[in-house]
Amino acid sequence: MRKSKLDRFYQRTIDERIEALIAENYLEDQSIAEFKDSLILPAEVANHMIENQIGTYHLPLGLGLHFLIDGNEYLIPMATEEPSVIAAACFAAKTIRRAGGFTTEVSERVMIGQIALKDIKDKVKAIDAVKAAEEEIITIANEAHPSIVKRGGGACNIKLRWIDEDIEQDTPSLLVIHLHVKTLEAMGANIINTMVEAVKPYLESITDGKAIMGILSNYATECLATARCHIPVDILARHGLSGIEVRDRIIEASQFAIADPYRAVTNNKGIMNGIDALVIATGNDSRAIEAGAHAYAARSGQYRSLSKWTKADNGDLLGELSLPLPVGTVGGSISIHPGAKFTHQILGFPDAKQLESIIVSLGLAQNFAAIRALVTDGIQKGHMALQAKSLAISSGATGDEIQKVARALRREKHMNLKTAREILLKLREDDQ
Ligand code: NDP
Repeated sequence: MRKSKLDRFYQRTIDERIEALIAENYLEDQSIAEFKDSLILPAEVANHMIENQIGTYHLPLGLGLHFLIDGNEYLIPMATEEPSVIAAACFAAKTIRRAGGFTTEVSERVMIGQIALKDIKDKVKAIDAVKAAEEEIITIANEAHPSIVKRGGGACNIKLRWIDEDIEQDTPSLLVIHLHVKTLEAMGANIINTMVEAVKPYLESITDGKAIMGILSNYATECLATARCHIPVDILARHGLSGIEVRDRIIEASQFAIADPYRAVTNNKGIMNGIDALVIATGNDSRAIEAGAHAYAARSGQYRSLSKWTKADNGDLLGELSLPLPVGTVGGSISIHPGAKFTHQILGFPDAKQLESIIVSLGLAQNFAAIRALVTDGIQKGHMALQAKSLAISSGATGDEIQKVARALRREKHMNLKTAREILLKLREDDQ
């Protein structure tokens, strides 16, 4: 990695960080002021993105450093309000790169559209009719969105699911047709919704059923990404704990999150700390990713950890994370939001599959950092150090005062807003 100029990035001022990025050719040759301006969402664009728009809501954008993914170096842009998330990602990426970095596997990007039919009188006849009409269904779907076919994608096959009536839940029997669509570089919500709406009346006509709706499914089980890492124990030792002890504690923590939904939710929240930050920064739909991820975590019938940490035959710690990642590099707000344009640039304009690889690796990094902290130092030590800065800002501290108040706050027994205000008051009195 071209480390020199980015070294000690966290200790620099914002302007120095931007200068370093320009010097290292991560940014176009532009002034610091031009760069800052280029990230602002113009009011006119914002007004056309949503309804009843009255302003813009800003999030800090930071960089995850040291990522080595499938042999490629990445600076990972992260939009998040939560302290310590980016520091944790950097730490984990630095450790994992010493062990060779992340390797990833991404499935073919196939998204699913659903059409649900009710009031089917003859189940077998309806299923046979739909199966026999597969080619026609695909033709109707592709004719509804011909441009994606011209690009090399489009509807490719169907799958059928019969859901029995459930008296306890008060739900009717349903014939659900899944339309599988290759959406290429797009997440594909609009492509799929256009297709399933076009197919709906035809399905009603051949099954004698009544369509409840046609809609994309965010449970993108045909669009999965997996990241793995392999960490030798000698780089895991920490504060008097041997590498073997830390490895075994991480494995136990992982087993806890696989066995217990209460722990699994928190474990997965930590994974999503990184994933959401990158999904948002790249202009993708974080709600779609969150919904799909949590459904995938419950695929066995019990909500479990999305990640798994185990011991390799040679004693190394092995980490693995899989989840559906239907993200895009085109569509939605990606090409109109200046922040998203910048983040795709700093990632080196990855295609959708590469973007999935980066996102899933970041999730695994975040998980490693959180679990390792939990089983060694505890999570609060690092977290509260950064939380002190937020409290200092909330207390009204500005400029140099922020560091001074945060530092004093960390020495206090009760780190809260009241104490921060008292420290700030005293600091200002002393300065007079
Ligand atoms: P868009 O419809 O905005 O954009 C996709 C379009 O980009 C394609 O139809 C295609 O149009 C064009 N395109 C250009 N180059 C490519 C390429 N290489 N590969 C594929 N398409 C390309 O976005 P999506 O359909 O992806 O929908 C995403 C948006 O939908 C997000 O904003 C999401 O929030 C929203 N949404 C989400 C829902 C959900 O998750 N349940 C429901 C409804 C909306 P052309 O070929 O004609 O140029």
